[in-house]
Amino acid sequence: MTVQYRDGIEIELSDGTRVVCDADEPDEDVAVVSHAHGDHLPATGTTAVCSPLTAAVGTARMDGQLQATSDPRINLRPAGHVAGSRATVVEDPDSTRYCYTGDISTRSRAYLDGFEPPDVDVLIVEATYGEPGYEFPPHEQVAGEIVDWLAETGAPVLLLGYAFGRAQKLQLLAERAGRDRVLTTDGVLRVNDPIESALEITFPAEPFDDTDLRPGDALVLPMTSGRIDWIDRLADEAGAVTAGFSGWAVESSFKFRGDFDVTFPLSDHCDFTELLALVDEVDPDRVYTQHGAATTLATELTARGHDATALKQGQTSLGQF
Ligand SMILES: [Zn+2]
Repeated sequence: MTVQYRDGIEIELSDGTRVVCDADEPDEDVAVVSHAHGDHLPATGTTAVCSPLTAAVGTARMDGQLQATSDPRINLRPAGHVAGSRATVVEDPDSTRYCYTGDISTRSRAYLDGFEPPDVDVLIVEATYGEPGYEFPPHEQVAGEIVDWLAETGAPVLLLGYAFGRAQKLQLLAERAGRDRVLTTDGVLRVNDPIESALEITFPAEPFDDTDLRPGDALVLPMTSGRIDWIDRLADEAGAVTAGFSGWAVESSFKFRGDFDVTFPLSDHCDFTELLALVDEVDPDRVYTQHGAATTLATELTARGHDATALKQGQTSLGQF
């Protein structure tokens, strides 16, 4: 068997079937999409093994359709990252079990259940924060600090985070803090709709139509670097305070790079300790790290006694059992 990082993560089973996960242009036997973040979505008009909610959010975010299908060899498990996100468990005919995590969080929070480590032989794990020093406080602590700050701040607030995932949690936190109005962009509202239908929850935001912001308003905005000037101008005109939300907020440079007044380490990924704990719990025969700090995480895992390899794009890793 081989695990490769080419266009997406490719797992070749003993019967020659290729399962390709999160490729831009999947052309293999079985295509899988873990979740509807832009860097994981395929080109438009793809049919892939994914959750119905990933297909719905992906379709809402792209011009074309993402169609969900299933495959008897593939079992999808909640990944705890964003609404509809799934880890992929593949059963090889030779009975080797693989898990490709995609992006994961083991913390249950808001409307998400944390990822439950599966019993597999080969684990392909994301490594976004796979480096010592990336430690997030407990979720309820971060959420509580955000709510307190939102409740204490009299000025309008601009809350910046990814349009899918962060923006929905920020709406709920602004509502919990009792802000007068929660406003957001059409792009975020388009993502809200399928999540509301699938999970039977309601996000509080109304459309922001460029009217004057008032004290008590919370405006949730997608974090898009191309709009920093626009956001700065909006904040100046309204006397608003800007806040950035990301796991990268554990680094002080995040605040300066984004020109935020305040930042909070609100993340949809495992932190470093959680990644180590996850691999320890799965205890696979072989682990591949992928994305972000893949090399550092593989080194740390090897030091802890795991058979760990960082997957580099274009490189083939032959497994041995
Ligand atoms: Zn993601």
